[in-house]
Amino acid sequence: MKRVYLDYAATTPTHPEVVKAMLPYFTDSFGNPSSIYSYGQEAKGAIEEARVKVANLIGARSDEIVFTSGGTEADNFALKGVAYANENGGNHIITSSVEHHAVIETCKFLERRGFRVTYLPVDEYGLVAPNDVGEAITDKTILISVMHASNEVGTIEPITEMGKIAKEAGVYFHTDAVQAAGHIPIDVNKLGVDLLSISAHKLYGPKGVGALYVRKGTRLISFMHGGEQERRRRASTENVPGIVGFGRAVELAQQEMSEEAERLTYLRDQLIKGLLERIDHIRLNGHPILRLPNNVNVSVDFVEGESMLLNLDLEGICASTGSACSSSSLEPSHVLLALGLSPEQAHGSLRFSLGKWTTEEEIERVLDILPRIVAKLRAMSPLLKSQG
Ligand code: PLP
Repeated sequence: MKRVYLDYAATTPTHPEVVKAMLPYFTDSFGNPSSIYSYGQEAKGAIEEARVKVANLIGARSDEIVFTSGGTEADNFALKGVAYANENGGNHIITSSVEHHAVIETCKFLERRGFRVTYLPVDEYGLVAPNDVGEAITDKTILISVMHASNEVGTIEPITEMGKIAKEAGVYFHTDAVQAAGHIPIDVNKLGVDLLSISAHKLYGPKGVGALYVRKGTRLISFMHGGEQERRRRASTENVPGIVGFGRAVELAQQEMSEEAERLTYLRDQLIKGLLERIDHIRLNGHPILRLPNNVNVSVDFVEGESMLLNLDLEGICASTGSACSSSSLEPSHVLLALGLSPEQAHGSLRFSLGKWTTEEEIERVLDILPRIVAKLRAMSPLLKSQG
Protein backbone atom coordinates (compact mmCIF):
# COMPACT_ATOMS: atom_id res chain seq x y z
CA MET A 1 0.00 0.00 0.00
CA LYS A 2 1.33 3.44 -0.92
CA ARG A 3 1.54 5.56 2.21
CA VAL A 4 0.12 9.06 2.31
CA TYR A 5 2.09 11.29 4.66
CA LEU A 6 0.04 14.26 5.83
CA ASP A 7 1.88 15.14 9.03
CA TYR A 8 4.49 17.59 7.75
CA ALA A 9 3.89 19.87 10.76
CA ALA A 10 5.18 17.07 13.02
CA THR A 11 8.27 16.66 10.90
CA THR A 12 9.29 16.75 7.26
CA PRO A 13 11.36 14.19 5.38
CA THR A 14 14.89 15.47 4.87
CA HIS A 15 15.22 16.77 1.30
CA PRO A 16 17.59 14.58 -0.78
CA GLU A 17 19.56 17.74 -1.71
CA VAL A 18 19.97 18.44 2.00
CA VAL A 19 21.27 14.94 2.70
CA LYS A 20 23.72 15.35 -0.20
CA ALA A 21 25.01 18.62 1.24
CA MET A 22 25.44 17.07 4.70
CA LEU A 23 27.25 13.86 3.78
CA PRO A 24 30.80 15.20 3.30
CA TYR A 25 30.68 16.70 6.80
CA PHE A 26 30.41 13.24 8.35
CA THR A 27 33.46 11.91 6.51
CA ASP A 28 35.92 14.01 4.46
CA SER A 29 35.26 17.31 6.22
CA PHE A 30 34.76 15.98 9.74
CA GLY A 31 36.96 18.55 11.50
CA ASN A 32 36.12 20.39 14.69
CA PRO A 33 35.30 23.99 13.75
CA SER A 34 37.34 25.23 16.72
CA SER A 35 40.55 23.60 15.40
CA ILE A 36 42.86 26.04 13.68
CA TYR A 37 44.20 23.63 11.03
CA SER A 38 42.50 23.33 7.66
CA TYR A 39 40.07 20.49 8.56
CA GLY A 40 38.69 22.68 11.32
CA GLN A 41 38.60 25.81 9.21
CA GLU A 42 36.71 24.00 6.43
CA ALA A 43 34.02 23.04 8.92
CA LYS A 44 33.99 26.54 10.35
CA GLY A 45 33.60 28.02 6.87
CA ALA A 46 30.65 25.72 6.18
CA ILE A 47 28.94 26.82 9.41
CA GLU A 48 29.42 30.48 8.55
CA GLU A 49 27.95 29.91 5.08
CA ALA A 50 24.91 28.27 6.63
CA ARG A 51 24.60 31.16 9.09
CA VAL A 52 24.40 33.62 6.19
CA LYS A 53 21.68 31.52 4.53
CA VAL A 54 19.59 31.31 7.69
CA ALA A 55 20.03 35.05 8.27
CA ASN A 56 18.91 35.76 4.67
CA LEU A 57 15.73 33.76 5.14
CA ILE A 58 14.54 36.15 7.86
CA GLY A 59 16.20 39.42 6.87
CA ALA A 60 18.72 39.30 9.73
CA ARG A 61 22.48 39.83 9.98
CA SER A 62 24.48 36.65 10.18
CA ASP A 63 25.99 37.58 13.56
CA GLU A 64 22.47 37.67 14.97
CA ILE A 65 21.95 33.91 14.37
CA VAL A 66 22.79 31.41 17.13
CA PHE A 67 22.57 27.74 16.16
CA THR A 68 20.79 25.52 18.68
CA SER A 69 19.70 21.89 18.95
CA GLY A 70 16.23 22.76 17.63
CA GLY A 71 13.11 24.83 18.17
CA THR A 72 12.67 23.78 21.79
CA GLU A 73 16.15 24.94 22.73
CA ALA A 74 15.67 28.20 20.83
CA ASP A 75 12.44 28.88 22.77
CA ASN A 76 14.05 27.97 26.11
CA PHE A 77 17.07 30.11 25.31
CA ALA A 78 14.94 33.12 24.36
CA LEU A 79 12.67 33.00 27.40
CA LYS A 80 15.11 31.98 30.12
CA GLY A 81 17.91 34.00 28.56
CA VAL A 82 15.92 37.25 28.54
CA ALA A 83 14.23 36.56 31.89
CA TYR A 84 17.47 36.03 33.81
CA ALA A 85 19.41 38.77 32.03
CA ASN A 86 16.73 41.37 32.76
CA GLU A 87 15.30 40.35 36.12
CA ASN A 88 16.57 43.54 37.71
CA GLY A 89 14.30 45.48 35.38
CA GLY A 90 11.18 43.40 36.09
CA ASN A 91 9.74 39.92 36.41
CA HIS A 92 6.70 39.96 34.13
CA ILE A 93 6.34 37.98 30.89
CA ILE A 94 3.40 38.06 28.47
CA THR A 95 2.60 35.10 26.27
CA SER A 96 -0.49 33.50 24.72
CA SER A 97 -2.59 30.52 25.74
CA VAL A 98 -1.97 28.76 22.39
CA GLU A 99 1.83 28.49 22.44
CA HIS A 100 3.75 25.29 21.83
CA HIS A 101 4.75 23.37 24.97
CA ALA A 102 8.33 24.57 24.47
CA VAL A 103 7.11 28.07 25.41
CA ILE A 104 4.28 27.20 27.82
CA GLU A 105 6.39 24.80 29.91
CA THR A 106 9.31 27.25 29.99
CA CYS A 107 6.91 29.92 31.26
CA LYS A 108 5.63 27.55 33.95
CA PHE A 109 9.23 26.84 34.96
CA LEU A 110 9.91 30.57 35.23
CA GLU A 111 6.72 31.07 37.27
CA ARG A 112 7.98 28.51 39.79
CA ARG A 113 11.10 30.66 40.09
CA GLY A 114 9.36 33.90 40.87
CA PHE A 115 8.49 35.33 37.44
CA ARG A 116 4.90 36.35 36.74
CA VAL A 117 3.37 35.24 33.44
CA THR A 118 0.22 36.52 31.71
CA TYR A 119 -1.31 33.98 29.30
CA LEU A 120 -3.40 36.02 26.86
CA PRO A 121 -6.66 34.53 25.58
CA VAL A 122 -7.40 34.09 21.87
CA ASP A 123 -10.57 34.47 19.82
CA GLU A 124 -12.47 31.58 18.22
CA TYR A 125 -9.89 31.44 15.40
CA GLY A 126 -6.89 31.39 17.70
CA LEU A 127 -5.92 35.02 17.16
CA VAL A 128 -4.32 37.07 19.93
CA ALA A 129 -5.61 40.67 19.98
CA PRO A 130 -2.71 43.16 19.81
CA ASN A 131 -4.72 45.46 22.12
CA ASP A 132 -4.66 42.77 24.79
CA VAL A 133 -0.88 42.71 24.55
CA GLY A 134 -0.75 46.49 25.03
CA GLU A 135 -3.12 46.35 27.99
CA ALA A 136 -1.17 43.55 29.70
CA ILE A 137 2.12 45.49 29.68
CA THR A 138 3.16 46.88 33.08
CA ASP A 139 6.33 48.61 34.21
CA LYS A 140 7.57 45.17 35.26
CA THR A 141 7.16 43.57 31.80
CA ILE A 142 10.45 42.40 30.30
CA LEU A 143 9.35 40.06 27.52
CA ILE A 144 6.44 39.29 25.18
CA SER A 145 6.42 35.90 23.42
CA VAL A 146 3.70 35.13 20.88
CA MET A 147 4.05 32.45 18.22
CA HIS A 148 4.13 33.38 14.54
CA ALA A 149 1.89 30.54 13.38
CA SER A 150 0.13 27.79 15.27
CA ASN A 151 1.46 24.26 14.94
CA GLU A 152 -2.01 22.91 15.65
CA VAL A 153 -4.55 25.11 13.85
CA GLY A 154 -2.25 27.02 11.50
CA THR A 155 -3.49 30.49 12.49
CA ILE A 156 -1.00 33.25 11.65
CA GLU A 157 -0.79 35.84 14.43
CA PRO A 158 -0.65 39.63 13.89
CA ILE A 159 3.03 39.79 14.84
CA THR A 160 3.78 43.12 13.12
CA GLU A 161 1.09 44.92 15.14
CA MET A 162 2.37 43.38 18.37
CA GLY A 163 5.94 44.24 17.39
CA LYS A 164 5.02 47.93 17.21
CA ILE A 165 3.40 47.79 20.64
CA ALA A 166 6.41 46.00 22.15
CA LYS A 167 8.82 48.50 20.62
CA GLU A 168 6.86 51.51 21.89
CA ALA A 169 6.83 50.03 25.37
CA GLY A 170 10.52 49.13 25.23
CA VAL A 171 9.81 45.45 25.91
CA TYR A 172 11.67 42.58 24.22
CA PHE A 173 9.55 40.62 21.75
CA HIS A 174 10.09 36.94 20.90
CA THR A 175 8.20 34.88 18.34
CA ASP A 176 8.28 31.12 17.88
CA ALA A 177 8.40 30.89 14.08
CA VAL A 178 9.09 27.15 13.97
CA GLN A 179 6.00 26.44 11.82
CA ALA A 180 6.22 29.63 9.78
CA ALA A 181 9.87 29.79 8.75
CA GLY A 182 10.48 28.53 5.25
CA HIS A 183 6.73 28.44 4.56
CA ILE A 184 5.72 32.10 4.62
CA PRO A 185 7.93 35.18 4.15
CA ILE A 186 9.57 36.46 7.33
CA ASP A 187 11.46 39.69 7.90
CA VAL A 188 12.52 40.30 11.48
CA ASN A 189 12.63 44.06 10.92
CA LYS A 190 9.15 44.26 9.42
CA LEU A 191 7.83 42.04 12.21
CA GLY A 192 9.62 44.11 14.84
CA VAL A 193 10.85 41.08 16.78
CA ASP A 194 14.01 40.90 18.89
CA LEU A 195 14.16 37.11 19.08
CA LEU A 196 12.81 34.43 16.74
CA SER A 197 12.98 30.61 16.90
CA ILE A 198 13.41 28.29 13.90
CA SER A 199 13.76 24.51 13.58
CA ALA A 200 15.35 22.75 10.61
CA HIS A 201 13.22 19.59 10.61
CA LYS A 202 10.05 21.54 9.85
CA LEU A 203 11.48 22.79 6.56
CA TYR A 204 13.02 19.64 5.05
CA GLY A 205 16.23 19.92 7.07
CA PRO A 206 17.56 17.41 9.61
CA LYS A 207 16.25 16.91 13.14
CA GLY A 208 18.18 18.21 16.14
CA VAL A 209 19.21 21.58 14.74
CA GLY A 210 17.62 25.00 14.85
CA ALA A 211 18.44 28.63 15.45
CA LEU A 212 17.58 31.57 17.61
CA TYR A 213 17.70 34.99 16.01
CA VAL A 214 18.89 37.53 18.58
CA ARG A 215 18.68 41.19 17.56
CA LYS A 216 21.98 42.97 18.13
CA GLY A 217 21.99 44.62 21.54
CA THR A 218 19.43 42.24 23.11
CA ARG A 219 20.38 41.37 26.68
CA LEU A 220 20.19 37.63 27.23
CA ILE A 221 22.29 35.16 29.15
CA SER A 222 23.54 31.84 27.81
CA PHE A 223 22.51 28.70 29.57
CA MET A 224 25.05 26.37 27.95
CA HIS A 225 28.41 27.12 29.51
CA GLY A 226 31.70 25.68 28.34
CA GLY A 227 33.66 26.54 25.22
CA GLU A 228 33.50 29.73 23.22
CA GLN A 229 31.37 28.51 20.32
CA GLU A 230 28.64 30.70 18.82
CA ARG A 231 30.38 33.85 20.15
CA ARG A 232 30.09 32.44 23.67
CA ARG A 233 26.34 32.36 23.43
CA ARG A 234 26.03 28.57 23.13
CA ALA A 235 28.88 26.31 24.20
CA SER A 236 29.36 22.82 22.67
CA THR A 237 31.01 21.59 19.49
CA GLU A 238 28.72 22.55 16.65
CA ASN A 239 26.54 19.99 14.86
CA VAL A 240 28.36 20.67 11.59
CA PRO A 241 26.48 18.30 9.24
CA GLY A 242 23.18 19.39 10.81
CA ILE A 243 23.97 23.07 10.43
CA VAL A 244 25.11 22.59 6.82
CA GLY A 245 21.89 20.68 6.09
CA PHE A 246 19.86 23.42 7.77
CA GLY A 247 21.56 26.02 5.53
CA ARG A 248 20.82 24.04 2.37
CA ALA A 249 17.20 23.44 3.45
CA VAL A 250 16.69 27.13 4.07
CA GLU A 251 18.17 27.99 0.69
CA LEU A 252 15.77 25.57 -1.06
CA ALA A 253 12.82 26.83 0.99
CA GLN A 254 13.56 30.40 -0.04
CA GLN A 255 13.75 29.47 -3.72
CA GLU A 256 10.52 27.48 -3.69
CA MET A 257 8.44 29.33 -1.10
CA SER A 258 6.01 31.37 -3.16
CA GLU A 259 5.26 28.65 -5.71
CA GLU A 260 4.95 26.00 -3.02
CA ALA A 261 2.71 28.20 -0.85
CA GLU A 262 0.37 28.72 -3.80
CA ARG A 263 0.26 25.00 -4.63
CA LEU A 264 -0.33 23.98 -1.01
CA THR A 265 -2.98 26.65 -0.41
CA TYR A 266 -4.91 25.21 -3.35
CA LEU A 267 -4.63 21.64 -2.02
CA ARG A 268 -5.41 22.78 1.53
CA ASP A 269 -8.59 24.50 0.38
CA GLN A 270 -9.61 21.48 -1.69
CA LEU A 271 -9.26 19.31 1.39
CA ILE A 272 -11.14 21.72 3.66
CA LYS A 273 -13.96 22.18 1.14
CA GLY A 274 -14.26 18.45 0.49
CA LEU A 275 -14.32 17.54 4.18
CA LEU A 276 -16.93 20.16 5.03
CA GLU A 277 -19.09 19.00 2.11
CA ARG A 278 -18.80 15.28 2.67
CA ILE A 279 -19.01 15.01 6.46
CA ASP A 280 -21.76 16.55 8.57
CA HIS A 281 -21.23 17.89 12.09
CA ILE A 282 -17.68 18.93 11.28
CA ARG A 283 -15.99 22.30 11.83
CA LEU A 284 -12.79 23.88 10.65
CA ASN A 285 -10.49 24.90 13.49
CA GLY A 286 -8.29 27.96 13.09
CA HIS A 287 -8.64 30.99 10.86
CA PRO A 288 -10.06 30.39 7.35
CA ILE A 289 -7.67 32.87 5.67
CA LEU A 290 -4.93 33.94 8.11
CA ARG A 291 -3.66 30.39 8.00
CA LEU A 292 -0.52 28.47 7.06
CA PRO A 293 -0.74 27.17 3.48
CA ASN A 294 -0.32 23.58 4.64
CA ASN A 295 -2.61 23.28 7.66
CA VAL A 296 -6.05 21.67 7.87
CA ASN A 297 -7.52 21.09 11.32
CA VAL A 298 -11.07 19.92 11.82
CA SER A 299 -13.24 18.68 14.68
CA VAL A 300 -15.65 15.91 13.89
CA ASP A 301 -18.52 15.50 16.34
CA PHE A 302 -19.33 12.14 17.95
CA VAL A 303 -16.01 10.47 17.09
CA GLU A 304 -12.62 10.29 18.77
CA GLY A 305 -9.62 11.74 16.96
CA GLU A 306 -7.54 8.71 17.97
CA SER A 307 -10.06 6.29 16.41
CA MET A 308 -10.02 8.25 13.15
CA LEU A 309 -6.20 8.29 13.22
CA LEU A 310 -5.92 4.54 13.74
CA ASN A 311 -8.41 3.85 10.96
CA LEU A 312 -6.60 6.25 8.63
CA ASP A 313 -3.35 4.51 9.51
CA LEU A 314 -4.86 1.17 8.46
CA GLU A 315 -5.43 2.81 5.07
CA GLY A 316 -1.83 4.05 4.98
CA ILE A 317 -2.67 7.69 5.78
CA CYS A 318 -0.62 9.52 8.45
CA ALA A 319 -2.21 12.50 10.18
CA SER A 320 -2.31 13.82 13.74
CA THR A 321 -4.76 14.72 16.47
CA GLY A 322 -2.78 17.72 17.62
CA SER A 323 0.85 18.52 18.13
CA ALA A 324 3.27 15.61 17.86
CA CYS A 325 4.36 16.21 21.42
CA SER A 326 0.88 15.78 22.84
CA SER A 327 -0.29 12.95 20.64
CA SER A 328 0.57 10.38 23.29
CA SER A 329 -1.39 12.33 25.88
CA LEU A 330 -5.07 11.85 26.60
CA GLU A 331 -5.54 15.46 27.67
CA PRO A 332 -7.52 17.52 25.16
CA SER A 333 -5.35 20.02 23.31
CA HIS A 334 -4.86 23.26 25.31
CA VAL A 335 -4.95 25.12 21.99
CA LEU A 336 -8.38 23.85 20.94
CA LEU A 337 -9.75 24.50 24.44
CA ALA A 338 -8.39 28.07 24.24
CA LEU A 339 -10.31 28.52 20.96
CA GLY A 340 -13.47 27.70 22.91
CA LEU A 341 -14.00 24.10 21.84
CA SER A 342 -15.53 21.71 24.36
CA PRO A 343 -13.30 18.83 25.55
CA GLU A 344 -15.44 16.48 23.38
CA GLN A 345 -14.92 18.62 20.27
CA ALA A 346 -11.21 18.86 21.05
CA HIS A 347 -11.01 15.07 21.36
CA GLY A 348 -12.62 14.74 17.92
CA SER A 349 -9.98 16.83 16.18
CA LEU A 350 -7.78 15.84 13.30
CA ARG A 351 -4.85 17.73 11.79
CA PHE A 352 -3.63 17.16 8.26
CA SER A 353 -0.48 19.03 7.33
CA LEU A 354 0.55 19.05 3.71
CA GLY A 355 4.00 19.36 2.18
CA LYS A 356 6.34 19.17 -0.74
CA TRP A 357 5.35 15.66 -1.81
CA THR A 358 1.59 15.99 -1.28
CA THR A 359 -0.43 15.43 -4.45
CA GLU A 360 -3.99 16.06 -5.54
CA GLU A 361 -4.54 12.28 -5.70
CA GLU A 362 -3.58 12.01 -2.04
CA ILE A 363 -6.09 14.69 -1.09
CA GLU A 364 -8.74 12.83 -3.11
CA ARG A 365 -7.85 9.63 -1.29
CA VAL A 366 -8.43 11.27 2.11
CA LEU A 367 -11.70 12.73 0.86
CA ASP A 368 -12.77 9.29 -0.26
CA ILE A 369 -11.71 7.41 2.87
CA LEU A 370 -12.34 9.73 5.82
CA PRO A 371 -16.13 10.14 5.33
CA ARG A 372 -16.43 6.33 5.29
CA ILE A 373 -14.34 6.01 8.46
CA VAL A 374 -16.45 8.66 10.21
CA ALA A 375 -19.68 6.95 9.17
CA LYS A 376 -18.39 3.60 10.45
CA LEU A 377 -17.23 5.05 13.77
CA ARG A 378 -20.43 7.00 14.26
CA ALA A 379 -22.46 3.85 13.72
CA MET A 380 -20.67 2.34 16.74
CA SER A 381 -20.36 5.57 18.74
CA PRO A 382 -21.62 5.74 22.33
CA LEU A 383 -21.14 9.53 22.00
CA LEU A 384 -23.77 9.66 19.23
CA LYS A 385 -26.17 7.27 21.00
CA SER A 386 -26.07 9.40 24.16
CA GLN A 387 -27.18 12.39 22.04
CA GLY A 388 -30.23 10.56 20.78
N1 PLP B 1 7.57 25.36 18.42
C1 PLP B 1 6.62 24.94 17.57
C2 PLP B 1 5.55 25.88 17.13
C3 PLP B 1 6.66 23.62 17.06
O1 PLP B 1 5.72 23.21 16.22
C4 PLP B 1 7.70 22.76 17.50
C5 PLP B 1 7.73 21.35 17.06
O2 PLP B 1 6.72 20.66 17.02
C6 PLP B 1 8.68 23.26 18.38
C7 PLP B 1 8.57 24.56 18.83
C8 PLP B 1 9.81 22.41 18.84
O3 PLP B 1 10.77 22.28 17.83
P1 PLP B 1 11.87 21.08 17.89
O4 PLP B 1 11.13 19.83 17.57
O5 PLP B 1 12.88 21.46 16.86
O6 PLP B 1 12.43 21.11 19.27
